[in-house]
Amino acid sequence: MLVWNGAFDGSFAFAHMGAPITRLNFWGVRGSTPTVDPATWRYGGNTPCLELEAPDGTQFILDCGTGLRMLGNRWTAPNGGKSQGTHILITHYHWDHIQGVPFFAPLYVPNNEFQFYSFRSKFLGRGSLKQVFEAQMAVPYFPVDMSVMSAKRKFQEVDGGESFTIGENKITTRWLNHPQGCLGFRIETPAGIVAYATDNEPGNDKLDESLQELVAGADIFVNDAQFTPEQLGATRKGWGHSSWLEGVKTARQAGAKTLVLFHHDPDSTDRMVDSILRKARDEFDSVFAASEGMVITLGAPGEPVQAHMPGTRTALRRAVQFQAKVCGLTEGGKEFVEETVVCDLSLQGAMLALRHLPQLQSELQVTMDAPGPNGEERVQLRGYVVRIDDAQEKGRVAVGVVFTD
Ligand SMILES: [Zn+2]
Ligand SMILES: [Zn+2]
Repeated sequence: MLVWNGAFDGSFAFAHMGAPITRLNFWGVRGSTPTVDPATWRYGGNTPCLELEAPDGTQFILDCGTGLRMLGNRWTAPNGGKSQGTHILITHYHWDHIQGVPFFAPLYVPNNEFQFYSFRSKFLGRGSLKQVFEAQMAVPYFPVDMSVMSAKRKFQEVDGGESFTIGENKITTRWLNHPQGCLGFRIETPAGIVAYATDNEPGNDKLDESLQELVAGADIFVNDAQFTPEQLGATRKGWGHSSWLEGVKTARQAGAKTLVLFHHDPDSTDRMVDSILRKARDEFDSVFAASEGMVITLGAPGEPVQAHMPGTRTALRRAVQFQAKVCGLTEGGKEFVEETVVCDLSLQGAMLALRHLPQLQSELQVTMDAPGPNGEERVQLRGYVVRIDDAQEKGRVAVGVVFTD
């Protein structure tokens, strides 16, 4: 069993011993360009950056979008006790996948060690990866040059179709269909398999097959879901991206267990991502929409795939006692109605103790009786499930919701 330890740094305390656990942390999930408009805050506006912690202690970073800055800031002890250093896999050189590098604080700390991996671009030639990093900090684009980065950096070229081992983990690369090239990565850890395939447009037979190979039997399949199927078939054809429907088809054909919709369009509001997620869930059993702060663990006994959002409600909380009626959907997709007491409330959300187990990232209608100018009044709120934990009371789960418009 996994227990959230109450910290807002996304860390968990593992209550079980022995079982190998892999953790996948989502630091940036937005495609193309960061977004800061309030309509996108719930899923998050930072560009792609994932962190994978393997059971042997190897740390992988997948892509260096703006999410990398937050990872660096919360990573107070880089390499703490780990001799392997950190392995950074970069899918391609478009801005949204590299723009976090100059803002990654651990790169400015001596004795830290990073190994970067990506492909030789035909536009840049030998040392592509190093050139890209130097170019983005060149005059007049950045105030200091790369020489102030005191951490040790090594650059390794990898080609599509390669396999190599890091610690106890096997990495496989495949080319994806994207302008100027893009690599997908499959990471096989002792606790399960993660396939990371973003920035990919379906429709090229050879590369579609590559994707199938990359995803075959994966526990987690992180896929580009930037466009709607309608956009993909018309105005956005040739832009190098995919849709939730293509992700579902690939997951089914390749036997992937959980699909994560990723690389959300900057113009997709939270409500639009909600609707994309609902459609995908109608077609495939286990689907999540990638959200900043989400943590997926693999390998916990009895619960092979778990998703949490540990740091969502950071606002001041108040202990309260409101009677509430909650309507929602269970994990199995059944409707439920339940009377309960709201015992913890902030402006952003609340904690509810429920007998039903609602689905993560589903909506709950929360109706509360609260004192108003004319006595007790009904307050109706729409909550969005971000967290599920063991409740203090037996037979109930503690459900964290954030309130949405
Ligand atoms: Zn991208
Ligand atoms: Zn791209």
